[in-house]
Amino acid sequence: MTEADLIIIGAGPAGMSAAATAARGGARVLILDEQPRPGGQIYRDVGVAAKHRPWLGPDYAAGAALLEALDHDGIRIETGVTVWRVEVGPRVVWSRDGVSRIAQAPQLLIATGAQERPVPFPGWTLPGVMPAGAAQVLMKSAGLLPRGAVLAGSGPLLYLVAVQLIDAGAPPRALVETQRRTDLLRAARHLPRGLRDAATLWKGLGLLRRIAAAGIPRHPAASGFRAETASDGGIVFSFTSRGRAQRIETPLLLTHQGVVPSTHMSRSAGVEHVWDHVQKAVRPAVDGWGAAGVPGIHVAGDGAGIAGAEAARVGVQRGAKHQCYAEKTFPDAEIVLYGTQEEVFRDLALGRIDAQLSDSLIAQESFLSTEEGADYTFLDGDHIDVECYGEGVGIAVRKGDEELARAFSDAIAAIRENGTYAAINDAYFPFDIYGGRPEGM
Ligand SMILES: Cc1cc2nc3c(=O)[nH]c(=O)nc-3n(C[C@H](O)[C@H](O)[C@H](O)COP(=O)(O)OP(=O)(O)OC[C@H]3O[C@@H](n4cnc5c(N)ncnc54)[C@H](O)[C@@H]3O)c2cc1C
Repeated sequence: MTEADLIIIGAGPAGMSAAATAARGGARVLILDEQPRPGGQIYRDVGVAAKHRPWLGPDYAAGAALLEALDHDGIRIETGVTVWRVEVGPRVVWSRDGVSRIAQAPQLLIATGAQERPVPFPGWTLPGVMPAGAAQVLMKSAGLLPRGAVLAGSGPLLYLVAVQLIDAGAPPRALVETQRRTDLLRAARHLPRGLRDAATLWKGLGLLRRIAAAGIPRHPAASGFRAETASDGGIVFSFTSRGRAQRIETPLLLTHQGVVPSTHMSRSAGVEHVWDHVQKAVRPAVDGWGAAGVPGIHVAGDGAGIAGAEAARVGVQRGAKHQCYAEKTFPDAEIVLYGTQEEVFRDLALGRIDAQLSDSLIAQESFLSTEEGADYTFLDGDHIDVECYGEGVGIAVRKGDEELARAFSDAIAAIRENGTYAAINDAYFPFDIYGGRPEGM
């Protein structure tokens, strides 16, 4: 059995960065990856391909620095191996050339990345139809370039592959895009937040400009995909664009509808998974440190959730009533779950999350009134929801003693009316401890 301080499954940017950081801190790290060389999806084969395939672009070549950081005595890399089981321990079971081995360490990091979102349509399994990401794998690892391909679907990878093909002298025949004008309008409301990452937006606009300059025909608002085998063995691709039926013949149809976290290993490790409303995908429930709620197991990189600049991150204690409220009220935000409230406050102070939800009193006493919370404040308005929080705090009286219940209610109404309640409130709390009332109550 192999022993280490930290086992990392996946040698993509997340796994490589974690390995280099842990090794610099003195840990013995074992990295396992099923590819022949480290790099992951984005930097696949960067060590050998960056020099020979300049058309893969400067972002690709930038991965070489991560690779160099792996050259450390504390890091051992096993490539060409498939991890197929994660057990309590944590222990991982992996195979190479049909021989299985076991490795054990106090800490395990699952950094297995993302996979393309599978979206079936008639003919999607025909020879001559494949995911655009898979074609990019062949471009990176073998220098294979498809001629006259049609790219169909949506997402940044579609545009990136189009530009890489243009630069490699194998421009695609057409770009068939599923997003509609209404999708763009819906996305426009995220623009102010998106501008915080203007460099990425600029990069995206640059890709679109390059596609336009190369004269690649674009078919927007496309739907009703259907692929059939043509008489010459190619593909007849039919679809509707802006309400008009279209038909294109191509030797290779490359489809793509974004990427989703690859959860095979985190599921195998017994990690809890949640539905991500922003990414519309299932992802492991991890806190801001990647801790996955199972002793010694962490998840990082795209496998923990596709990093999206547009999503605010709201922290909340796992299983608390605030989780219900956060998921219901902020469907566009990324809800980050934590084991304890202390961890939520710590990550808020470190800037790992943008906001948090907890009881007002706890937020005030444990965070806002401390040095770390000096630059933070309550969000305006009452956050009340009978479904998640119930009807609030009450005073219990003996069953049927309506006279006493009425006396309490009248007394509370009277002190709220004459300002006594406000005076007591203000002496102790910088917010209204009484709270608001849900509509209709
Ligand atoms: C097909 C594809 C192509 C992409 N191309 C680009 C691109 O060109 N540019 C870009 O910006 N983004 C690209 N992305 C997005 C990309 O996922 C991220 O930008 C980035 O690579 C994520 O880094 P990561 O370290 O989280 O995971 P990854 O880079 O995906 O690395 C995960 C690693 O885990 C290994 N692994 C997974 N399961 C196992 C297992 N069971 N046993 C052993 N090893 C395992 C994989 O071999 C892989 O090397 C692509 C995504 C996909 C799915």
